[in-house]
Amino acid sequence: MPETIGFVGLGIMGAGMVKNLATKGHAVSVWNRTESKAEELAKSLKIKQTKTLRDLAASSSVLMLCVTNTGDVEQVVDEAASSLKKDSLVIDCSTISPKATEDIAAKLRKIGIGYVDAPVSGGSEGAALGTLAVMAGGMEEDFNRAKPILEAIGTRITHMGPAGKGQVTKLLNQILVVVNMLAVSEALLFGRAAELDLKKAVAAVESGAAGSWMLSKRAPQVLDNYWKPGFTVDLQQKDVDLVLEYAGELGLPLLATGMIRQLYARLQKEGKGGLGNHALIQALEPLMPAVPASRQK
Ligand code: NAP
Repeated sequence: MPETIGFVGLGIMGAGMVKNLATKGHAVSVWNRTESKAEELAKSLKIKQTKTLRDLAASSSVLMLCVTNTGDVEQVVDEAASSLKKDSLVIDCSTISPKATEDIAAKLRKIGIGYVDAPVSGGSEGAALGTLAVMAGGMEEDFNRAKPILEAIGTRITHMGPAGKGQVTKLLNQILVVVNMLAVSEALLFGRAAELDLKKAVAAVESGAAGSWMLSKRAPQVLDNYWKPGFTVDLQQKDVDLVLEYAGELGLPLLATGMIRQLYARLQKEGKGGLGNHALIQALEPLMPAVPASRQK
């Protein structure tokens, strides 16, 4: 029997995922807390929208979600659980706490429902194109069931181990993302003070050893003064907090990530939490000398 997928959370990421599921032949229905977002998407894709989350859960063999944080996933799963049939599967694509993920999976297992944590990386662009990297955790049989569905939203699907390990891998990914953005920010501010043609400089180095997704996708946006979010500062800080909390439990001092937390906190204080995460450079700018090299003695 083909799976019937119910999708919750039609934000920047969820909307792209649903579009890929629908266009690649999966039977998908949607529900969103803010109804109008689901109406628009359901109409454009000619898919079903349910009135309530419970209706969606009752009519799905797989409930898939991409919501904001740990508490949101717990809330959605709690509300949906009593309407889900035995032997159904929950796939969570949000980035949340690994420990809470283990607890949610254990609770669902007790009532005969499978769980796969499947956080993603690749930004709004990856969600729209269906080219996300998916880091999954869960029991082997649950992962094997989720895999053909995840293949509609991503091009690299990796099973990292039991429930929670997908989230731990995503936190590792987030260390790389933010420290990378810090490097991109410092390099651009250095190049600006040295009066380099920055677009030319980025193009010159991006195919070499310094190349990265953050450099190729976000540096051009910084240089164009384009701050619309693919991933907001607020969500980035949520993930930095998840990283630091988990590292704290492991007794690890994450020096660069801890410093970046303070820089993002400054942006949030300035009311910039809704900008894209590449706005990190705006927290560093006031610390850098504004005098170009040619005007220095
Ligand atoms: P977003 O645009 O803010 O969308 C969040 C979605 O979750 C919205 O549909 C929202 O509903 C729904 N939601 C939040 N709390 C809810 C609750 N308690 N009950 C029901 N629905 C709830 O966020 P996003 O950028 O798509 O990110 C979603 C998740 O993916 C996050 O965990 C994020 O860290 C992760 N992620 C994001 C990116 C990225 O580049 N954006 C990349 C990788 C991973 P409303 O419409 O009613 O607000």
